[in-house]
Amino acid sequence: MNFNGIDFDTYFKHYPDENGYFGKYGGAYISDDLKQAMAEITEAYFTICKSSKFISELRRIRKDFQGRPTPISYLERLSGKLGNVQLYVKREDLNHSGAHKLNHCMGEALLAKYMGKKKVIAETGAGQHGVALATAAAYFGLECDIYMGSVDIKKQAPNVARMKILGANVVEVTHGLATLKEAVDAAFEAYAHEYKDAIYCIGSVLGPHPFPMMVRDFQSVVGIEAREQFVGMTGELPDAVVACVGGGSNAAGMFAGFLNDPVDLYGVEPLGKGPTLGDHAASLKYGTEGIMHGFNSIMLKDENGEPAPVYSVASGLDYPSSGPEHAFLRDLGRVKYDVVDDEETIDAFFTLSRLEGIIPAIESAHALAYGMKLAKQLSKGSVLINLSGRGDKDMDYIIQQYGIR
Ligand SMILES: *Cc1c(COP(=O)(O)O)cnc(C)c1O
Repeated sequence: MNFNGIDFDTYFKHYPDENGYFGKYGGAYISDDLKQAMAEITEAYFTICKSSKFISELRRIRKDFQGRPTPISYLERLSGKLGNVQLYVKREDLNHSGAHKLNHCMGEALLAKYMGKKKVIAETGAGQHGVALATAAAYFGLECDIYMGSVDIKKQAPNVARMKILGANVVEVTHGLATLKEAVDAAFEAYAHEYKDAIYCIGSVLGPHPFPMMVRDFQSVVGIEAREQFVGMTGELPDAVVACVGGGSNAAGMFAGFLNDPVDLYGVEPLGKGPTLGDHAASLKYGTEGIMHGFNSIMLKDENGEPAPVYSVASGLDYPSSGPEHAFLRDLGRVKYDVVDDEETIDAFFTLSRLEGIIPAIESAHALAYGMKLAKQLSKGSVLINLSGRGDKDMDYIIQQYGIR
């Protein structure tokens, strides 16, 4: 399919280019030490991803350990309530450890094993990426250092406990605001010293090349499975596909299955409390071009040009930028990026729980809220929503903040 001058039949061959660019976005803006480390990872990835041994081992892990393929569920009661549009969800909440994040963590850790590394290093904010990576490290017998701000350590006690039970070393970062940004810097610094024995595992389609490409490729299993399952269930393609966008990994994986199809794609960002800077994390809607954490993309900046503070009810979506491929697909118009606020999200969270018996992650509830809005606007057709994770982790917070609705 040709779209605005881009041939999507061969898209994955050409995007990103060999320097990691999706158009003008992406690249690797890093120190010379790290450049060498990234070059090593890129080379290993290109060799390994063509090896039948690596591919068959990853397939076996996905099936026997992760429980893939995850199903697609038809939301019969919710669809009936909203009108004539049929809503479906891809059930990444049923992936082992409760979200899509394990898809790329298992890939990254398997790569670490093939490269002969002994340790995986990462940062975590809300702790979801830390838990997924600690799970992968335990599976492969790798050491695991997770850098986490002391403020987040206090807020996210259950995930800290999970990481420790899984055998990870949670490294407390105390400087600055002691949250995600400082944890990213500390993890990169540690990696620059340890890269001979360790591999850095990023949590989304972010960071310097090759991470946005690698994480997308590992997550594309979601979209490839979903396309085949959906056609098998209904005999046709969905009219629209929706996914939430924090860093953008679950969306990138889901969209990968449908980019070359006549299907409308929607990425949903959190509007939080509203459009004032600091009240939301909708970088693709309100941001401007800039470089942070080693890549060029669209980002929210404060008055000094630094990454702005962000907020939403879903801590997993609170990142002041998005992956470079999303910036590219936005400019091209292939994917539409839009927002829903906290209120709409909480409403969707309870609606899915009550009508379908599925408690969604509060991140995923953003995609669901948007899918529900689409269903009310359209007069017919079908919408497939990526349910990126389960909501067990959010229940205490939601009941405390919003009560039972
Ligand atoms: C982390 C997380 C997200 C956001 O990350 P992306 O890279 O944008 O996918 C979304 N949903 C869940 C359940 C998460 O844990």
